[in-house]
Amino acid sequence: MFSKILIANRGEIACRVAATARRMGIKTVAVYSEADANAKHVAVCDEAVLIGPAPAKESYLRADKIIAVALATGAQAIHPGYGFLSENSEFADACAKAGLVFIGPPASAIRAMGSKSAAKSLMEKAGVPLVPGYHGDNQDADFLQNEADRIGYPVLLKASAGGGGKGMRVIEKSADFKDALASCKREAINSFGDDKVLAEKYLQRPRHIEIQVFADTKGNCVYLFERDCSVQRRHQKVLEEAPAPGMTAARRAAMGEAAVAAAKAVGYVGAGTVEFIANQDGSFYFMEMNTRLQVEHPVTEMITGTDLVEWQLRVAAGQPLPKSQAELSINGHSIEARVYAENPEKGFLPSIGTLQHNHTPTAVNFKLGGGVNAPASCRIDSGVREGDSISPFYDPMIAKLIVWGKDRTEALANMAQALAQYQIVGLSSNIAFLQRLIASPAFATADLDTGLIERNQDVLFPAVVPASLPVLALATVALLQAEQSGASDPWQSSHGWRMNSILQRSFKLEEEHGMHEVIVSYLADGWEIGVNGMSAKASLTHRSGNPAHHFNLKLGDQTVTGTVVRNAEMVHVFSQGQHTQLHYADPMAHAGEAESEGGRLTAPMPGKIVAVLVSKGQEVKKGDALLIMEAMKMEHTIAAPHDGVVDEVLYAIADQVAEGAPLLSFKQD
Ligand code: ADP
Ligand code: ADP
Ligand code: MG
Repeated sequence: MFSKILIANRGEIACRVAATARRMGIKTVAVYSEADANAKHVAVCDEAVLIGPAPAKESYLRADKIIAVALATGAQAIHPGYGFLSENSEFADACAKAGLVFIGPPASAIRAMGSKSAAKSLMEKAGVPLVPGYHGDNQDADFLQNEADRIGYPVLLKASAGGGGKGMRVIEKSADFKDALASCKREAINSFGDDKVLAEKYLQRPRHIEIQVFADTKGNCVYLFERDCSVQRRHQKVLEEAPAPGMTAARRAAMGEAAVAAAKAVGYVGAGTVEFIANQDGSFYFMEMNTRLQVEHPVTEMITGTDLVEWQLRVAAGQPLPKSQAELSINGHSIEARVYAENPEKGFLPSIGTLQHNHTPTAVNFKLGGGVNAPASCRIDSGVREGDSISPFYDPMIAKLIVWGKDRTEALANMAQALAQYQIVGLSSNIAFLQRLIASPAFATADLDTGLIERNQDVLFPAVVPASLPVLALATVALLQAEQSGASDPWQSSHGWRMNSILQRSFKLEEEHGMHEVIVSYLADGWEIGVNGMSAKASLTHRSGNPAHHFNLKLGDQTVTGTVVRNAEMVHVFSQGQHTQLHYADPMAHAGEAESEGGRLTAPMPGKIVAVLVSKGQEVKKGDALLIMEAMKMEHTIAAPHDGVVDEVLYAIADQVAEGAPLLSFKQD
């Protein structure tokens, strides 16, 4: 076995590989770009070497630099992860030339499967079923159009060198063919430097079912069953699960054997995935083979009790496969959700930023390679920690959330629970979307096909429900607590004001779709909180966290629990598995400005009183906030110009005041 390996990747997969290496007593060398100097993968490896600027072309794709680092650090082998150099046959060759082991298949197998067209020709010979189509060399537009007409519409055009769902075009009718061909070729040459295309029948309501295969150098090749990756958007996987719902033992064996035949046809060694497209009746066709570890490999690990990275390392070191086909079996059900920094409401636009708050669900009973997991297992594979950023340079994946259950129902329940516990502040994530997706009747009943997301837009993007009283109460109490708490609290505002009589105050909490005006009356043992025509007596029964952000409230006769996180002017409430974002412009933040203007006791402009912070007879210090008024959609704080005692408060909350109106009378000390 190797004593040191280099991991030529970043993010979660680099951390994932490092975890197994560590468990096996193998030292790890990380490589990183300037953008990743503080990245998690750098921290979890034993050594780390900078290889260049942020753009992947100048760092993670620099085969020459990576090989030089491996040689300089004494690594014996290179694990390429997925993406980047993982399916680059020249890199595999270059490793061999430098005397390094490439932890992946032989370069010849990568090459054979690198072109979808050539791979299909090979598979045809190996007797693996293919989607009806044309995958030959003739790229003449008229010829290809004739082929498409013959195949029958709808037809799918694919870039032969393609990947990541790029370059694909669905064509509905012959008249659209030429335009689609031109745009497919344009995208193919831009993305892959090769404009060769293939055409195939576009299947209706198909499922994406793939088989994990593994081969060693001794001639053994096994399949570790299937993964259903039908839930996709724009031909990219969103949820993956194993086993595939509705799979029969006979079909599993047929698909597994076809996948093993595909691997053997190209002299495969290591981990690979044979992707099939399947009809609802179960008939299946070869789509492509990914000659690497797949993003969704954990669901296979969860149901087979294996560590596929350990298998990769063993095979690369010349050892036989740890298990034979007969020793492999399926236990339970596993689902993976890809947690992305993106905004589903805005067309899944990637979201860039810092993970200000990153609370992950509790990983339960999960141990890599620790055999079959106990029920309620939850595993999180992530390359980022709280405080880390998602940069524009790389894939915006935050984490993979993987759950296990004894059956699909239990796995689904565990996924729902895990997603409900996941809290992210600082950038947009797809968590709420994933929650709706797994709860959707189509997914819950396993009515799967690649159009599931498209077809269920109404369920997946429902009308927005305004924040509830409990959520608004949590936000309000958190704001009140922050103002009262000590200086160690970053939310704290320094304008200490006292409450020695019944005072009222209003908070404006704004959602994307409307404003809530929360009226708080101070009571001896809590508050009366009123909003949107509802009101309830609230008292804080428990708070924890530093800064305090877990709150238990008694609200009327309910108990309300939640986490409230403040990020600049946004207040994020996590309660009952729901994330609500409220905008709150802190009036106290303007107090300083008012003071610098001379701390007027008259209204600087016409407006409305939104908070009365002092009462008659109260002693105040210079700069203390006395009143808050709202004018021109902004809040203005009226602060004490000097130490003194409040003589009279002339207005109450919600009163309109004219410009120049005296607001309170005040006796100087
Ligand atoms: P496929 O659908 O072909 O199996 P996957 O969804 O498994 O692809 O994702 C793998 C591909 O996604 C890689 O080939 C790469 O292009 C891209 N990718 C996703 N995340 C990353 C990452 N963190 N680093 C590099 N490439 C990534
Ligand atoms: P990539 O290399 O981008 O992963 P694939 O050939 O694996 O490309 O196809 C990606 C996805 O496109 C599949 O998972 C499936 O959803 C869809 N797809 C591919 N071929 C077909 C087809 N013939 N009919 C219908 N959908 C298809
Ligand atoms: Mg694919």
